Amino acid sequence: MRRNQIATVVEVKGAPYEVGFQHGSSAKAKIARFLEIVYSRARQYQPALTNKQHVLKLADKFLPFAQDWAPDLVEELHGLSDGAGISFAEVFALNCYSEVTYSPIASSSTQLMGCTSFVVSGGALSPPSTGPIIGQNEDWGRADSEIFIILKIKPSQGPSILMTTPAGFIGYAGRNSQGIGLVQNGLAATDGRLGVPVAFVARRVLQQERIGDSVDAIVNSHRSLASNYLIAEESGEAFDIETTATDFDIFHVEDDIWTHSNYYFSSKLKALEEKTPSWESAGCNAFRAGRLKNIFRKNYGKINSDLTMDALRDHVNYPRSICRHPDPARALDWETSASIVMPMSQSKTYVTIGNPCNNEFKPFDLG
Ligand SMILES: [Zn+2]
Repeated sequence: MRRNQIATVVEVKGAPYEVGFQHGSSAKAKIARFLEIVYSRARQYQPALTNKQHVLKLADKFLPFAQDWAPDLVEELHGLSDGAGISFAEVFALNCYSEVTYSPIASSSTQLMGCTSFVVSGGALSPPSTGPIIGQNEDWGRADSEIFIILKIKPSQGPSILMTTPAGFIGYAGRNSQGIGLVQNGLAATDGRLGVPVAFVARRVLQQERIGDSVDAIVNSHRSLASNYLIAEESGEAFDIETTATDFDIFHVEDDIWTHSNYYFSSKLKALEEKTPSWESAGCNAFRAGRLKNIFRKNYGKINSDLTMDALRDHVNYPRSICRHPDPARALDWETSASIVMPMSQSKTYVTIGNPCNNEFKPFDLG
């Protein structure tokens, strides 16, 4: 039974403050809900963060790094704060979601992680001449799909951007009018530090006109946390950049099929990988990337957008499957909040809000 959750589309344009103000005023209720989730999850995952002031105080420590590296995005958050009628401190804390919920700065991370991403290209595709298809399942907390929106940004400077993102977030998975697409996976490493929040890095990737500059935005930022950034361009070039806060590894994607989930491929970065008991017990982290790769291998030469959508609905290893569902036995668990498929030779992004197994993919145009 398909539920077809309706996607909220927010279209904004102009200078950074205006972009933020329009975003904030158009998505007030979802931003307020996201803020509740930030407070509640910070408390669940980080025992030291027992009240809102603790969360705000921790988030504020990341602000100088964001201000120094991306003053335009901080300005956008001031607009978002005014538009949503929520204090700047709270809007900034919301944009430190990853930092306050699972940064080792707050305490050791023990949570499971989510997201399964891919890029398929060249001979794997049918017809083989079309540009790459890049996409992912965005796995967040239980019932978080209610805060996801389609955000279309036409900035006064730089490429237009379409992201599928929690409302109020400055940067997440999406594509831009220069033909650059980004998908992401959470990674857990032990070297988290005060630095530029992950959401800011993601947006910088999508602000670029050249894929090399997108890679540069990742590797040359003073990152706060580990993350995986998979970037593909209309021409067929793709890079997977695995990061910790203090180090990175760049994979130029030369295979026609490339998948990623929530563990390091890089032998160099493996040494920094978080190995708490719940992290290791979550065998699904390795499973999902392998399963997706196998589905694509079996369909080599026949892959099109529809097939990638079907692959994202896969339920082997349920509920910790590619299409992920909460485990009733766990109080804290993840599920697929949104699913995206971006054929880079077309202008359309196909999105489900909620699990792709019970929601139809709908097309959204960047323009
Ligand atoms: Zn499902």
